[in-house]
Amino acid sequence: MSCPGKLFYNWSDKDFDESLKFIDTEQLGNDPYDVTIIGAGVVGCALAYKLSLHKLRVLLLDKNYDVGEATSKGNSAIIHTGFDAAVGTLESELVTKASRGWPELAKKLKIPYEECGALLIAINDEQNSHLDNVYEKALKNGVTDVQLLSAEQALELEPQITKNVLRGILIPRESIADPFSTSIAFAEVALTNGVNILLGTEIIGVENANDKIKTLVTGCGKRIDTEIIINVAGLGSRKLADLYEGESFDINPRRGQFLIFDKYSRSAINRILLPIPTANTKGVLVIPTIFGNLIAGPTAEDFTINDNAVADTTVEQLQALLNGASKLYPGLYEQPVISTFSGVRCNCSQGSYWIRCNDGHQGIITVSGIRSTGFTSSPALAEYLISELHEKLGLNLEANPEAIDSRSESSWPGWWKRPYSNNELVKEFPEYGRVVCYCEQISHGEIIQQLDSPLKPRTLDALKRRTRAQMGRCQGFDCMVNVAEIVSNHCNIPLNKITKRGPGSEIISTNTLQY
Ligand SMILES: Cc1cc2nc3c(=O)[nH]c(=O)nc-3n(C[C@H](O)[C@H](O)[C@H](O)COP(=O)(O)OP(=O)(O)OC[C@H]3O[C@@H](n4cnc5c(N)ncnc54)[C@H](O)[C@@H]3O)c2cc1C
Repeated sequence: MSCPGKLFYNWSDKDFDESLKFIDTEQLGNDPYDVTIIGAGVVGCALAYKLSLHKLRVLLLDKNYDVGEATSKGNSAIIHTGFDAAVGTLESELVTKASRGWPELAKKLKIPYEECGALLIAINDEQNSHLDNVYEKALKNGVTDVQLLSAEQALELEPQITKNVLRGILIPRESIADPFSTSIAFAEVALTNGVNILLGTEIIGVENANDKIKTLVTGCGKRIDTEIIINVAGLGSRKLADLYEGESFDINPRRGQFLIFDKYSRSAINRILLPIPTANTKGVLVIPTIFGNLIAGPTAEDFTINDNAVADTTVEQLQALLNGASKLYPGLYEQPVISTFSGVRCNCSQGSYWIRCNDGHQGIITVSGIRSTGFTSSPALAEYLISELHEKLGLNLEANPEAIDSRSESSWPGWWKRPYSNNELVKEFPEYGRVVCYCEQISHGEIIQQLDSPLKPRTLDALKRRTRAQMGRCQGFDCMVNVAEIVSNHCNIPLNKITKRGPGSEIISTNTLQY
């Protein structure tokens, strides 16, 4: 097996675990990296995973305190077949390729995944007139298993949809998966294969961009040398490209808001319900989640790059969303909403999948505009980028015979295995029998296990995405402090230093503790 990589957090607080603290660049080794990936979203993590199968020195870094914490955590979590992608584009090619590989990938990486299928429905004459075009487009994209349905057939498959349905298209391979486990799984395997990971580290400068060895300057003033830079910084890709004077492009962030419905709702709908897509958006969907809820969304609202409100949720848009989604499934009005969230698409004015090799300088790749399908396409996009690295940047690719490409059985998330209800497992590890999060039935044991997992999550949000504790009906009202206490005791961090998403987001103020 390869020598595992190192994981560090650039965590300013003195109380943080010393063994994980990034203090000096010497901790990362003295030689320059072959490749540094800036941005540990699902795309950066997939790239780290695929690069780790080769004999290379690779660094993956992100300004956030967990992987997959930006756009990659706030999406519809659909593994698209690419049936409605713009024909003949790189996006269509990568999405259709990736979607076929997803069942095997999910098994290998222990990512909860379900081929639930999707039903696209036309509910008025105008939509009905577009239905045949959508069907033809699917065939042109190589998605040949789609089926045109009459209203009766659509209602037979999904009896709860609107009785106004005129016709439909069944897309059997549209699937759902756990978006959080995906970035984590890619990064965990990359780390096991020797990729170093640096979290909480923003790149604010690029020096010697014209030289063979370039220098990245971090927000805390450290310098990291690397031969190749890959900018997969999503919404931050524009600002980053300015640092090395890459080709000009514009990002217009596009917000998508969602409603999350309680788990009772999932039994009403089996498949993803889709409206007829427009030129701009896939429209408002009703989506079963892999976690057992239904969600409705997303909206499509355009912002400017520096608008601070971009990640908010708003009452007006959520109400409009509910009205829109109820046109597909009228029973949605009866379902209790347990939470809302928003995600922000990296919408590039110059086009989706905007990729520039040797951008401004030899040895730099800029990837932007991975707008609406990057969760699905990430494994195929990573392979595409690696072939570009080889062909256009001259990166030598020698297979690493010791590398692994999968995770062990024990990596299935606890919420998927339900260890608290398995007597054998509880006997083996009694902490599985102590439930901490009652909404999602998550045990003390699963939280400890995640704290000790390869990426050593240290924030409450990072634990939430791994265990689902705080993700249920009460949204952490009941269990958040208990989870924080477990982190505090297990990692020897004072309770008032436990954060939601890194320094500055402490959940208990020092003042409160003094009373
Ligand atoms: C509402 C919505 C619905 C969607 N639905 C789907 C779907 O159903 N299926 C699907 O396949 N796709 C979907 N997508 C698209 C998908 O979520 C994205 O394409 C994907 O997450 C993009 O991943 P990324 O790695 O490119 O970006 P990100 O996840 O944003 O990662 C970029 C990372 O770069 C880091 N970064 C930025 N600047 C710096 C810097 N200077 N230094 C260090 N780090 C930096 C950020 O912290 C961030 O973690 C949806 C997106 C949205 C918003």
